[in-house]
Amino acid sequence: MVREILILGGGSAGLMTALALLRRAPGIRVRLLRSPALGIIGVGEGSTADLPVFLHSFLGIPPAEFFRAVNPSLKLGIRFNWGRGEPYFYTFAEAMRQVIGPREVPCGFACGGDLGGNHPATALMEQGKVFLRHPDGPWPDVRAHFGYHVENRELVAWLESTALAWGCEIIDGDLAEAPVADGRVASLRLTDGRELRADLYVDASGFAAELIGRALGEPFVGFADSLLCDRAVVGGWERSDEVLQAYTASDVMTAGWCWQIEHPGRINRGYVYSSRFQSDADAEAEFRAANPKVGPTRIVPFRTGRRARQWVGNVFAVGNAAGFVEPLEATALMCISHAARFLALSLRDSDGAPPPSLVGATNRLLARQWDEIRDFLAAHYRFQSRLDTPFWRHCREHVALRGAEPIAAYYRENGPTFLAEIDLIPPAKSFNLLEGYWTHFLGMGVPHARPDRANPEEVAAWRAHVAANRGDAAARGWSLRDTLAILHDPRWSWTPGFFGPD
Ligand SMILES: Cc1cc2nc3c(=O)[nH]c(=O)nc-3n(C[C@H](O)[C@H](O)[C@H](O)COP(=O)(O)OP(=O)(O)OC[C@H]3O[C@@H](n4cnc5c(N)ncnc54)[C@H](O)[C@@H]3O)c2cc1C
Repeated sequence: MVREILILGGGSAGLMTALALLRRAPGIRVRLLRSPALGIIGVGEGSTADLPVFLHSFLGIPPAEFFRAVNPSLKLGIRFNWGRGEPYFYTFAEAMRQVIGPREVPCGFACGGDLGGNHPATALMEQGKVFLRHPDGPWPDVRAHFGYHVENRELVAWLESTALAWGCEIIDGDLAEAPVADGRVASLRLTDGRELRADLYVDASGFAAELIGRALGEPFVGFADSLLCDRAVVGGWERSDEVLQAYTASDVMTAGWCWQIEHPGRINRGYVYSSRFQSDADAEAEFRAANPKVGPTRIVPFRTGRRARQWVGNVFAVGNAAGFVEPLEATALMCISHAARFLALSLRDSDGAPPPSLVGATNRLLARQWDEIRDFLAAHYRFQSRLDTPFWRHCREHVALRGAEPIAAYYRENGPTFLAEIDLIPPAKSFNLLEGYWTHFLGMGVPHARPDRANPEEVAAWRAHVAANRGDAAARGWSLRDTLAILHDPRWSWTPGFFGPD
């Protein structure tokens, strides 16, 4: 019976799990051990639309409190500079599911690879805006399809103060070893001689994976044949007159790609690259040349992959200890929130005694999520069409698509239709994946066999729709900076249930 949980790690993974347990699995004592000397990784700033749902719906944290403490910025999607033409936007809204006319032709057939203005959210991002004007007054028409940009240290500081306020005991100390008996962790021995015990241990120790990896030896399933990058050079600068954008930008580089994350007072960038194709010094030089304002930089090495199982005996791994893929779709905080949710609800629903079938199902679901994301990211590498360098040529020839292979084959013959979605990506998918595939295949110019499926009337109707999206309403839309001022105003109130069911 699980009555006491000890979390190893005080980064976003450990703390988000603590909050999920405290809020949704009441009656369990939660303690958290973290090393002030080792600190946290300090990167991880973009999210999908799952993070606001986790925070405000699953945990019930009032958005006003979060805005006051963390000062997040809003993100409607990602602008990818990965195709031959103009950069294209991938939104959290359902842009590609729109259909045209009585034949209900999916809009992807009519746009001919030009995704510009395909949704109000896209048109707003293109014009440096975030929301349309509200029809009833001088405030933005705030829609729920957004994620957050948050500075990692501010997020972690707020998570920590909330965990303390909710009854989590936080212990400073360094793990020396975790003795194992019968495939279970027996205790955590600290370097100062203390020994801590619990019924269940959460391994949130980051890349160290102290419990799931070092102590229990759970195999690591590497993703290197699909995702070649293994390092990032990161840096940023204080914002001056740059427009605060409601999207993350992603630009291809010689041996990888570069993100741009927008905070109200700062712009952070990071170049993710493959050390097989570029040295640290050359990557840093290319990064600086592309971003002349960047201040001090640091190199962050990483290894992509996941543990074979995330829940083994009395250890549940979360965050970078459980698995890691590069932030090309900013999925890490989403994976953490899903894992934390599964653990809390599994303990609650099983009255603290999760049977093997529940543990097994949780392991399969979480592993599938990692693999789905790996395959989706692999497709970005395989079909990128903007740059032709040794790294990108290698990606085009060798990146293993795995689960994305049948999706790409289907697309080539059928084009961007959702008809067989349930077969291509069965339910319990991680996020709006097929929307993402079709957006990227069109944006990167992957050919398909049905370019003429939309007839001239349907193409004309689609163009009129795009023009309407891009028209006066978007042009007169709200800037992100003005919107954030409104959202911080004590007179602003969020509609109950705004973030939907958890
Ligand atoms: C280059 C890069 C860019 C990223 N960008 C994004 C992004 O845009 N969006 C996103 O969602 N995610 C991103 N991530 C992922 C991000 O790192 C994670 O989302 C997140 O910060 C989770 O970290 P963590 O809590 O697992 O680990 P950490 O922050 O590393 O925390 C580990 C904790 O364990 C403790 N610990 C470790 N060993 C011991 C020990 N022996 N004794 C005691 N305590 C110990 C540490 O003190 C620390 O408290 C990025 C990652 C990288 C590498």
